[in-house]
Amino acid sequence: MKGLVVSAEWAPRPGYEVSEFEKRTGKAVTGSSIWRHPRLSLETVPEAPLGPRDVRIRPRACGVCGSDIHFYEADADGYMLYPGLTKFPVVIGHEFSGEVVEVGRDVDTARKGDMVTCEEMIWCGECVPCRNGYPNQCLNLEEIGFTIPGAQAESIVVGARYCWSIDEIAEKYGSADRAYEAGALVEPTSVAYNGMFVRAGGFKPGGYVAVYGAGPIGLAAVALARAAGASKVFVFEVSEARRTLATKVGADAGYDPVVLQKQGTSPAQVVMEMTRGAGAHMHVEAAGAPTRTIPQMEQSMAIDGKIVMIGRAAERVPMYLETFQTHAAQVFGAQGHSGYGTFENVIRLMAAGRVDLTPVITHRFALLEAVDAVHRATAREGGKVMVRT
Ligand SMILES: [Zn+2]
Ligand SMILES: [Zn+2]
Repeated sequence: MKGLVVSAEWAPRPGYEVSEFEKRTGKAVTGSSIWRHPRLSLETVPEAPLGPRDVRIRPRACGVCGSDIHFYEADADGYMLYPGLTKFPVVIGHEFSGEVVEVGRDVDTARKGDMVTCEEMIWCGECVPCRNGYPNQCLNLEEIGFTIPGAQAESIVVGARYCWSIDEIAEKYGSADRAYEAGALVEPTSVAYNGMFVRAGGFKPGGYVAVYGAGPIGLAAVALARAAGASKVFVFEVSEARRTLATKVGADAGYDPVVLQKQGTSPAQVVMEMTRGAGAHMHVEAAGAPTRTIPQMEQSMAIDGKIVMIGRAAERVPMYLETFQTHAAQVFGAQGHSGYGTFENVIRLMAAGRVDLTPVITHRFALLEAVDAVHRATAREGGKVMVRT
C-alpha cells in the first residue's frame, strides 16, 4: 500500500547525550536533537498485521498537523524542528477518521463498516502514570504517526480501545464525507479540550478568553471557549487568513501582534482595554512562541486567571512570578488528548452542533499528493490541510 513516510538520519547533535532509553528503543525523546536531514516521500509500505484486539481502518480523512510540518522542516544545522518523541522512518498522519474494514477476533467494541476516529497516543494502561489515571504521561507511550505507522496511508491498524465512533457526527452532518472531515478534527480539538478543561479546569461562563496562535489547535480553543460560555474571545495571530477563520469559529476579534507593536500597543493592552481592565481569565498558548506570548499573558492576567500551555517550544521562558502571586494566577502544562472523557465529549459537542470546526478546512489533497499537502501546510496561512482518501 501507499504511505507518506518521513525518514531522517540518526545523528545526535554534538553535546547531546543519547539516553539508555533512546539507545535501547531507537526512539528519540528530543527528536530535534537527534534527527537530521528529514525527508518526506510517498512510498510503498507493507500493510501491518492485524492483532486479536486490533481493527484495520481505511482512513478517509487525515489532517496535516503542526507536528507533521515540524518533521519536514529543519534548522540551519539540518536538524528536524519537532522536539518530541519520534522513531523514523515512519508513516505520518495522526488526525484522522475512517471506516473499519477488518476486526480482530477478540474485538467486541467495533464492527466492520463502523465510522471511527482514533486517539493518537497509544498508552499502555500498565505503567504507573497510566494506572494512576494519567494516560497522557504514559511511560511506554507509542504515538501514531510519530513512533508507529500513521494514517497518511491506504490502511492503518489500531487497537480497538483507542477508537471512538463518530456515528453521532454523521447523523448531524447527514453526509459520510463531511462527517469524516469533522471526525478527523476530533483529535486536535481534544488536545485543546484537554488543556483548557481537563488540565486547567476550565473558566467560569462569562469569563474572558485570549488565544495566542490561530493554527488548528488555537482555532479549536476558540470554538471550545465559545461553546463553554466565554463572554469574549480574543485571538492574536499574524496570519490574516487565520484571523478570519478564528472569527468564523467564534472569536469576537482577531489582532495581528506585529501590527499592534507598530501602532505602539500590544496584545496585553488590547486585552486590558477590551475587558475594561479585568484581564483574561484564560490565556491559551497555541502559538509555540512562549518567549513572546507569556509576557503578554502576564500583563493582562485576570484575578484567578489561568495560562494553558499547549504550543510546543524547546526553550526557557523568563516569567515574572510575582504576577502569579498577586493575581492568584496559575500556569498549566498540557499535552495529549487521552482519557477523562475527552474524545466522547468533543464528539458530542460536534454532534450537537455546538462546535463546528469544518470551516477551518481550507485545502484538500488526495493521498497521491500528500507531499504537496504537507508542503502547502508549511505556508501557515490557511487553516487545516486535509488529505482525503
Ligand atoms: Zn497533531
Ligand atoms: Zn502507560
